Amino acid sequence: MSDVSQLVRPLLGQLHAYVPGEQPKIAGLIKLNTNENPNPPSPKVLKAIRSATDARLRLYPNPTADRLREKLAAHHKCKPENVIVGNGSDELLALATRVFVEPAGNVAPSRSTIQYFTPSYSLYPVLADIHGAVKNGVPLRADFTLPSVEELRRGGQWNFDAALTYLTTPNAPSGRGYATAELEDLCRAHRGVAVLDEAYVDFAGEHAMPLAFKYPHVIVARTFSKGYSLCFLRVGYFVGHPELIAALHKVRDSYNVNGIGQIAAEATLNNVAYYRKNFRRIIATRKRVSDALSKLGFEVLPSQTNFIFVRPPLFSARDWLEKLRAEKILVRWWDYPNVRDYLRVTIGTDNEMKTLLQVAKRIISTREKARR
Ligand code: PMP
Repeated sequence: MSDVSQLVRPLLGQLHAYVPGEQPKIAGLIKLNTNENPNPPSPKVLKAIRSATDARLRLYPNPTADRLREKLAAHHKCKPENVIVGNGSDELLALATRVFVEPAGNVAPSRSTIQYFTPSYSLYPVLADIHGAVKNGVPLRADFTLPSVEELRRGGQWNFDAALTYLTTPNAPSGRGYATAELEDLCRAHRGVAVLDEAYVDFAGEHAMPLAFKYPHVIVARTFSKGYSLCFLRVGYFVGHPELIAALHKVRDSYNVNGIGQIAAEATLNNVAYYRKNFRRIIATRKRVSDALSKLGFEVLPSQTNFIFVRPPLFSARDWLEKLRAEKILVRWWDYPNVRDYLRVTIGTDNEMKTLLQVAKRIISTREKARR
C-alpha cells in the first residue's frame, strides 16, 4: 500500500473533530472546564455500582435498558416507548443525524440540513460534518438571547424545513435559559425534527419536557452526566414520539448502554431527593460567585446552568485563561467569533470557588499596583 491516507474517506481529511475540555493528569488542579458536577453521586448509587461489580460482568447488559426506560417513563409520566437511552446523550445526538438527515446529494437541501444557533454546543457542526450534511448555524442575538420566530423569518437564514435542528436549552456556553413559551413558538413554526438538548436543565428554572409530548417532531435530550454526577458512566436519553424513538432504536448498537451505567442510572432515579439538594447548592453557589465576580469587574451573563459565561476585565479572556492556569485553575475558552472575549467557568465546590475568587482578586490587584 503506497498511500495509507487514501484508505480514509476524503470527508475525514477535512473534518475538524470535536475538542473536549482537557482532562489533565496533574494533581491539585481546580477543574472548572468541563461542567462536571463537583458533588459525588449519592452513596446509595455508589453502593449499587459496587454491588453490581461481580461475576455478572461477563454477561451482556440488557440491550434495551428496559428497567431504566421503565423508571424514566415513570419519572416523566410517559411510556417506555417514548424513551431511548444512549451512551451519553452525545451518542443519541449523533444517532439523530443518521435517522433524520439525508447526506447532502440528490435530495432537497432542507432534507440534508442540520441547524443550530451559534454559539451553542460545538459538537453539532462536527456531527453534521461527519454525516456529510449541510450545516446551518444561525447567530443568536448579540446578548445570546433567542431570536423570535418573526425575527428569524425576517432574517431569512433560519430554515423552518431543516431536517434536524438542535436547540441547547438552557444554552451552552452562554448559560442563558430560554422560556418554554419561546421554544414552543419556534417548535410550532418548525417542520423538521427539533431536538431540545436539555443537558443542563436541572439547574434551570423551567424545562420544556411537555413539548416532547405535545409535538410529534420534538425530542427532548437529557443526561445523567451533569445534574446526576455520572459523566464517567455515560448515560443519556431522548424522550419523544414512539415512531421517532423506534427509528432511533433500529440504528443504535445492540448493547449501547453499559450495564453498570444502567444500574447507576436506575439507582439515581430512586434517590432524586439527594440530587435536588445538590442542584439547589450549585444554584446558590452560582449566585454568590456571579455577584462576587461582578463586583470584581467581570461581566457575568445570567446563568440557568452549572457554569457561568463571563467577560473578564483588564486582560483578554485568553490571557485570563493562561493566568488562571498558572494558578492551577482550569476554565474554558474558545477562539471563535463572538465568544472569544468570554470564559466559561464551571461551578465547583464552595472551596474551589473561594480559591477562584481569591486568585481573580490577586490578578486584578497585581495589575492595578503595576499601573500606579
Ligand atoms: N449537550 C450539551 C449541551 C453538552 O454540553 C453536553 C456535554 N458536553 C452534552 C450534551 C453531552 O453530554 P453526555 O454525552 O455526557 O450525556
